[in-house]
Amino acid sequence: MTKKQFEAESKKLLELMVNSIYSQREVFLRELISNASDAIDKIYYKALTDDRLTFDKDNYYIKIDANKDNRTLTITDTGIGMTKEELESNLGTIAKSGSQAFKHENEIKDGYDIIGQFGVGFYAAFMVADEVTVVTRSVDGDQAYKWQSTGADGYTIEPTEKDIVGTEITLTIKENTEEESYDEYLDENRLQSIVKKYSDFIRYPIKMNVTVQKPKDDDEKELEDVVEEQTINSMVPIWKKNKTELTAEDYENFYTEKRYGFDKPLTHLHINVDGAVRYNAILYIPENMPFDYYSKEYEKGLELYSNGVLIMDKCADLLPDYFSFVKGLVDSEDLSLNISREMLQHNRQLKLIEKNIVKKVKAELKKLLKNDREKYETFYNAFGRQLKYGVYSDFGQNKDVLQDLLMFYSSSEKKLVTLEEYVSRMPENQKYIYYATGESNERIEKLPQTEMVLDKGYEILYFTDEVDEFAIRMLMNYDEKEFKSVSSGDLGIEEDDKDKEAKAEEKDNKELFDHMKSVLSGKVKDVRASQRLKSHPVCLSTDGEVSIEMEKILNQMPDNQNIKADKVLEINVDHEVFQSLKANFDHDKQKVELYTQLLYNQALLIEGLPITDPVEFTNDICKVMV
Ligand code: ADP
Ligand code: MG
Repeated sequence: MTKKQFEAESKKLLELMVNSIYSQREVFLRELISNASDAIDKIYYKALTDDRLTFDKDNYYIKIDANKDNRTLTITDTGIGMTKEELESNLGTIAKSGSQAFKHENEIKDGYDIIGQFGVGFYAAFMVADEVTVVTRSVDGDQAYKWQSTGADGYTIEPTEKDIVGTEITLTIKENTEEESYDEYLDENRLQSIVKKYSDFIRYPIKMNVTVQKPKDDDEKELEDVVEEQTINSMVPIWKKNKTELTAEDYENFYTEKRYGFDKPLTHLHINVDGAVRYNAILYIPENMPFDYYSKEYEKGLELYSNGVLIMDKCADLLPDYFSFVKGLVDSEDLSLNISREMLQHNRQLKLIEKNIVKKVKAELKKLLKNDREKYETFYNAFGRQLKYGVYSDFGQNKDVLQDLLMFYSSSEKKLVTLEEYVSRMPENQKYIYYATGESNERIEKLPQTEMVLDKGYEILYFTDEVDEFAIRMLMNYDEKEFKSVSSGDLGIEEDDKDKEAKAEEKDNKELFDHMKSVLSGKVKDVRASQRLKSHPVCLSTDGEVSIEMEKILNQMPDNQNIKADKVLEINVDHEVFQSLKANFDHDKQKVELYTQLLYNQALLIEGLPITDPVEFTNDICKVMV
């Protein structure tokens, strides 16, 4: 018997395999089971088209046998088997999976690409085995053959005996090394869990001898170990079942079984798409935020299956960041058993699926918002911030997808409202969508700057998340209505008599305002008569792009650029304090200076900004007391 050499490319690939391209060696079992399943598919198909063959489902199965003493692991199938020629061409040549190999002939130059492109599964056996033996008998011949190889040095083929059609692949599992343990691939429990993880939904039974404890004969108390043959996969994937057959509980159970989360899902989507891209998916929106959700540790992604076989645990490319909370899986027939991440990223099919998923998830959220407000608010409280990040990031290119999913707390409704709802309530003469920023709703409620806008009967949205104002700046407008901070220089409220009065007042007291401005030189850009205050004496507003809230956030960042808002100190000219300023201006400039400093520091406190010199501030207060 002569030893034949592998084809050059196969040899290269084998070397790569032995040095483990697969990050997890355990996937060798997935590959062998998927080949066995393919082989049964083929004989099934043949039976459909060949009158001489019948296909009785009961006779078709895959069996896994582990033998610790011999260190062998055998995977048997009752599939189509291989002729001598097929053995030669399928296992002697790399990835000879019919048409696929020819489609990608050009890329065969580079071993790594091949691994990305094909299910090069069979060779994966050499990641865990020193020797691989294949005994097979084809449906098209009476003679069985044995193929044997210890890896890179080639293989042998010889005739052998086998009673029934099918294939039996025996791996001689490697001895443990100092770094790696291979014993686990002979362990019953470990093998079961690998099957559960990757091949649970293979359509044929995967059988294995399993040790179970059973009562000894009549004695109920005493247990004994009994070995019995069990089917260890569940066979029908839930996502291939008909939606009408499934209950809400089935979906919840699946969520738990898959450990997508420890909560219950808020809602699920069961998607069957049969168009330019074909896929099935089960997606969940969790009820609670995972504890690490807003941290670097959180990894987004969906499980990716190719025709019932798991090929990736967390495929990040299926979800945009703004929907990173979605859990679940995608199964597509259009994907090859693709194991390299780099290749997946460039996969056109995957991009189409992602686009489609985004559409479906958005539609589901809108439906929830419309039909089950309470549930939507639960969702929004957990993941709303992520949507707002989504509006802000990528230069705002996803704002159209997301703007109708946003909610903010409303001054008039005292609850979360959508932008659509806000705009629909706007009075004729209201030009802008008003918002106020602050640490909490309670604090914003007390902001002096909101007085005038509220007095006009306008609604204000409360921004309490750091990202809010940044997101809204990116959005710029909603339904052609611009956003306006209640602290911005020009509120855009039509001038009424009061405004005119304020302007006149400012002119009359120009000298006083100029003096105050010089007292606060370097701290504020201007001191003005306020048009937005009613009962409060003083507040800060800003001219220009950077708001006070943005200044706070930007200055907390590690690459702090010391960005400053252009602050304006606004004085309520109707307030008694102003009268006192005016009265003192002629004869007691020192007092005016003291009051100016006090007013400025008060405005800082209201904004939640630190006072530069707290000791000086308290001393100033004492000066007023004595
Ligand atoms: P792929 O599955 O992508 O074709 P593999 O390396 O996994 O690549 O398998 C190579 C080929 O070997 C298969 O296409 C199939 O023709 C043949 N083969 C592998 N395992 C079996 C099996 N258990 N029964 C019949 N044919 C098999
Ligand atoms: Mg394969």
